[in-house]
Amino acid sequence: MIVAIDGPAGSGKSTVASALAERLGFLYLDTGAMYRALTWLARRDGIALDNGPALAELALAHPVSFSAAGTVEIDGQDVSAEIREAEIDRLVPVVARHPEVREVMREGQRSLGAAGDSVIEGRDIGSVVAPTAEVKVFLVADEAERARRRTADRPGVQADTLAADLRARDERDAVNTQPAEDAVVLDTTELGIDEVVEAIARLVEERRR
Ligand code: C5P
Repeated sequence: MIVAIDGPAGSGKSTVASALAERLGFLYLDTGAMYRALTWLARRDGIALDNGPALAELALAHPVSFSAAGTVEIDGQDVSAEIREAEIDRLVPVVARHPEVREVMREGQRSLGAAGDSVIEGRDIGSVVAPTAEVKVFLVADEAERARRRTADRPGVQADTLAADLRARDERDAVNTQPAEDAVVLDTTELGIDEVVEAIARLVEERRR
C-alpha cells in the first residue's frame, strides 16, 4: 500500500509522515530530501542551477539514498544536516522546477516506493509520482502557523526572514504542488501531530477493509 502525503512547507508533512510510517511499520520516503540533496550536490560541483539537462544528468549519476538510521546520502556523503540549511530552502525550488530533473526524481521515487508498503511525502506524490496510491492526503495550514513551525525548525534564523522565505518558496513551488483530485484535504492549523496521524491511520484502516 502507498500512502501519499502532500502539502506546502510547514504543513506538517515530514513530522506526520515519519510518525505514521513508524506506527504502521511502513517505509518512509521524504522526496523533498531528494531535491534538497541534489541541490546541495549541484552547489558543491558548481553546476548552474538554471541548467536543467546538466542537473538531470547529475541526478541520474548520483541517486539519493536513505540509510536505515534515516540519514540522507548522496555521492557517498551524509548530507542530512546540510540540506536543512536556509540557503538550501531558498535554492531547492530553482532545481525542482526543471521538468528533466522531476522526471529523474519521479523514477527514483517510484522505485524506492516499490520496495514495500510506504508513506511517501512531497508535493506531487498523489497526483504525479503515485497516482494509484491507496490513500492520498493533502495537508494545509494557515500561513502564520506554517511560519511559526518553520521558526521552530530553524533556530538561529530570524522569524521575519523565515516568513518571507516561506512565501517566496510557496510561490515558486506552486506549479508543482498539485493536490490529487481524490486527495483528502486536512487542515492541520489547529491539530496536534497525534491527531493528524490518527486521522490518516483511520483512512488507511478504512482502505484496508
Ligand atoms: O518538503 P521539503 O520542504 O523538504 O521540500 C523541499 C523542496 O523540494 C520544495 O520546496 C520543492 O521545491 C521540492 N519538492 C518538489 N516535489 C516534491 C518534494 C519536494 O518539488 N515531491
